[in-house]
Amino acid sequence: MSRPTTAPSDTLGIGTPAGNRRFRRRLLSWYDRVQRDLPWRESRDPYWVWVSEIMLQQTRVAAVVEHYKRFLRRFPTVAKLAAARESSVLTAWSGLGYYRRARMLHAAAKKLVRDREGKFPTTAEELRELPGVGRYTAAAIASIAFDHPVAVVDGNVERLLQRVLGKMLATEELWTTANHLLAAKRPGDFNQAVMELGATVCTPRQPKCLVCPVMEMCATRGQLKSAAKPPRQRKREIHYVFDGRKDQVLLVQRARDAALMPGMWELPQVTNVNGSGQPWLTLRHSITVTDYVVRVTRSSAPQGTEGVWLAKTRLTKLPLTGLTRKILRAAHFI
Ligand code: SF4
Repeated sequence: MSRPTTAPSDTLGIGTPAGNRRFRRRLLSWYDRVQRDLPWRESRDPYWVWVSEIMLQQTRVAAVVEHYKRFLRRFPTVAKLAAARESSVLTAWSGLGYYRRARMLHAAAKKLVRDREGKFPTTAEELRELPGVGRYTAAAIASIAFDHPVAVVDGNVERLLQRVLGKMLATEELWTTANHLLAAKRPGDFNQAVMELGATVCTPRQPKCLVCPVMEMCATRGQLKSAAKPPRQRKREIHYVFDGRKDQVLLVQRARDAALMPGMWELPQVTNVNGSGQPWLTLRHSITVTDYVVRVTRSSAPQGTEGVWLAKTRLTKLPLTGLTRKILRAAHFI
């Protein structure tokens, strides 16, 4: 962890009009110099902003970039998204996980087209009425796409503000503080700058205080312990059967009312590896707080499996679970 070089209390200033101005100035000039080149920053079109914000929920930037580009090529406008079949939307979403987000995105697109001729509302309050758009997402779209002066608070902003101010803040205090600090003339840039600083410099572990643009105004300079303990990863082993012939593979569809990934396609899951030999494939897969060891046997699916033989060429159009896609790629089947 970087060490403080001067006593922070001399230079704090945040909370006073002059201190807040200085914070904004430093943050924005840093952002103008070093912001990452990300595809959703090429346009302030609310559709682009909205899709990126939904994809970035609980997903890392690096994992989103290519999915985002592909998704926008497939559905370049809100009207195209609204007109698509749900299975096409889920297929385009495949690999990003948390498929409820894709369903909500689709439902919101339909609502926008049905009720507003595809035009987005411009304020955070109205945006919150869209399916899948909560307080944070509404504020992000309103500020970035429409310069609506409203601050955002996500995990990065929360960590950064608490470190800068040197104290833990309750949820409402965080939103109030962020709104006081907000640069009203450039709210979208300000919000992106705070999140960018939290994601790239004021990182959860080992913040890079020596290159931080607000280091002189920071009360803790990396010394504030996070109250939240990182969740403990659970470990599980799961088994699948790869039942393939020529250019076809047997897949099963998850129940439409399943809590996770309803309606998506996957390899038949079995309770244990058939026989005592080595599995055909072993790979690792993580979903939120669970690390899976995935063992795949190449054999016939158990009797009674309600599967469908699907040609390789159809798989690109089917919503596969991310893990199934990963297995089929590892098997060089797709
Ligand atoms: S804001 Fe974060 S990175 Fe910057 S000085 Fe404070 S603790 Fe370090």
